[in-house]
Amino acid sequence: MDVKLERLGKAAFAVIGDDGATNFGIVRGEDGSALLIDADIRRIDEIEEALKRAECRSVKYLFITHENFDHASANDYFEKKGAVIIASQGCLDALVDDGDAKFAEMSGRSPELFERYPGLKMRLPHIVFASGLTLKLPGATVQLRHYDQSHSRGDATAYFAEEEIFFAGDLLYTDYHPVTIYGRIDGWIKTLGELRQLSYSKIVPGHGPCGGTLEIGRRQTENFQRYLEEFYRRLDEAKTGRKSAQQIVDETYEAYPSFGKRWMVKRNVEYFLGHQR
Ligand SMILES: [Zn+2]
Repeated sequence: MDVKLERLGKAAFAVIGDDGATNFGIVRGEDGSALLIDADIRRIDEIEEALKRAECRSVKYLFITHENFDHASANDYFEKKGAVIIASQGCLDALVDDGDAKFAEMSGRSPELFERYPGLKMRLPHIVFASGLTLKLPGATVQLRHYDQSHSRGDATAYFAEEEIFFAGDLLYTDYHPVTIYGRIDGWIKTLGELRQLSYSKIVPGHGPCGGTLEIGRRQTENFQRYLEEFYRRLDEAKTGRKSAQQIVDETYEAYPSFGKRWMVKRNVEYFLGHQR
């Protein structure tokens, strides 16, 4: 099985999604118990293989950074294996509001999932936190923190203190166009300003390649903040009729010619223009 498992430190790993697919994080305790950060039910084989290669005995905690299917659809699978599922209060609120409907829509596109996982459904987190929570595994301290009004309702990050690894979830995208339809772009830009002040040795985005040093990570965060600022300004130009939706899409492609997942831009623009206040 082809797994892009990146070793971040002695006990920290990232599963890097192919072509901008979701990244997952792993922090291993000294006893082999693991904290898994995000999991997608469609990629269980990849995750299990990564856990094996990272020499994890079991998943003690599954922390989901936010409510989107590609990060939160394996709660049922890991709950059945005895994991405790943790998320922010904002994530829980989003899942309670329309988690079942979104799960049905997304899982309906992969009917084979129901043959492999009979009774598969959305499961809610067991532990939620409002602003922050500290998790302990033997030899590992992980600080979770919620950021309001950004990429989604649930956005939370994980910082593995002993090895100074920062898992940013979808607050950070690198080399790929982001999804901007679930949260607030203005709040997200502000949050990225806060993330730029943080110190870490490595940063793991929700999608795209990791920053191998603090300097690279800060540059990635700054670049992404600029992306959102420009995009937000362009959306305003469309909203006020100065530019067409297509012009904004074209300009965004042009400004970031190497970015993958180009179809996201059109979707983001159309969504925004359809839902403007
Ligand atoms: Zn994502």
